[in-house]
Amino acid sequence: MSEHAAETTSSALAGTADAAGLAQLSSAALAERYSSSLLGVFGTPQRVLVRGAGCHVWDADGNQYLDLLGGIAVNTLGHGHPLLASVISSQLSTLGHVSNFFTSPSQIALAEKLLDISAAPAGSKVFFANSGTEANEAALKLTRRNAGTPQAPRTKVIALEHSFHGRTLGALSLTYKEKYRAPFAPLPENVSWIPAGDIDALRAAVDETVAAVFIEPIQGEAGVKMLSAQYLQAARDITREAGALLVFDEVQTGMGRTGAFFASAPVIPDVMTLAKGLGGGFPIGAMIVFGEENTRWLAPGDHGTTFGGNPVACAAGLAVIHTIESQNLLAHVRATGAWLREQLAGVEGIAAVRGAGLLTAFELESANAPKLVAAALDAGFIVNATDEKTIRLAPPLVITTEQLGTLIAALPQLIRAAS
Ligand SMILES: *Cc1c(COP(=O)(O)O)cnc(C)c1O
Repeated sequence: MSEHAAETTSSALAGTADAAGLAQLSSAALAERYSSSLLGVFGTPQRVLVRGAGCHVWDADGNQYLDLLGGIAVNTLGHGHPLLASVISSQLSTLGHVSNFFTSPSQIALAEKLLDISAAPAGSKVFFANSGTEANEAALKLTRRNAGTPQAPRTKVIALEHSFHGRTLGALSLTYKEKYRAPFAPLPENVSWIPAGDIDALRAAVDETVAAVFIEPIQGEAGVKMLSAQYLQAARDITREAGALLVFDEVQTGMGRTGAFFASAPVIPDVMTLAKGLGGGFPIGAMIVFGEENTRWLAPGDHGTTFGGNPVACAAGLAVIHTIESQNLLAHVRATGAWLREQLAGVEGIAAVRGAGLLTAFELESANAPKLVAAALDAGFIVNATDEKTIRLAPPLVITTEQLGTLIAALPQLIRAAS
């Protein structure tokens, strides 16, 4: 027996007793306890969820839901994936956390794996964070160092209209929605937003006063707005020519979500940020810095984080990538996503469908998306509205066409009920 074994049993029980007791309560009782103990930044939660398996979750009243949002593009392998659970558990019992005064095999292995799947040139490096916004903070700090000279300073940052890069102050300064930014002024300044997808606007905006350009290859929060491969390539060429750094925010689109490991491939930016799907539900973010030149922008002491690169988080990331590869999930995502969009396009009341892989949005003919979310939930489907007309789907990458077919079958009636 290890020195902690006896304690483990009793304290695990003590630690979970409170939660176990709560799990017996009804949804209504739990909602009450939630609102009196949790800060109200998320509004009222739609349901209290107590369990998940594969592509389904269950609420406190025993209702089952098909999870077509996947924790907002996070639950890559679905819920309760046996390999992910066992890798996390065995890493935790072997070595759960070390500070960044030290490293661990899983941290190095995940960094190497990310460089491998992103086709990073020699000399490229990875920085681990814990979330998407933190990965973007790291990227913003890195690009600040591309400061030009006192005679010719580079002070501007360009982002795209309708962009979303996160909620911490730096990432928020890049986020387009005035409503998110205005209450928290002053933010880091000199950010301007240009129309997404417009190569001429990009060319006009990017000169030698620009330090960096931040782009989501598909604008997820904006309602899955697609950018073309030509636009991403033009962004690469234009930034290189002007000496500005190109940052692709693949927090939502990365890790197989679009049917490739990265939506921007084969275009290689200077910096790429990742989070959401990377840990399959375990919190982790990452910044990949491409090319040896770019790794020089941040030196020892320039940036850091206590939890970043935690062995358990990195083991989770490795398990996710390993499973995507061994189960041939990228091909599955492409085929399933194409089938889904084809089916959606034939549903009455749907005006437009777009997406790549298993990141999909459909636009309703009428502004009833929030009502449709509620109707779908009552019928056992978790979907998400990005605006009054648009529904976003980002299910686990392991979802089947049979499972998606249940939504397709239910949609005509749900759309009617919501209008
Ligand atoms: C979700 C998201 C973020 C923020 O990630 P958090 O983990 O919520 O901080 C940043 N960029 C994009 C594109 C996202 O979708």
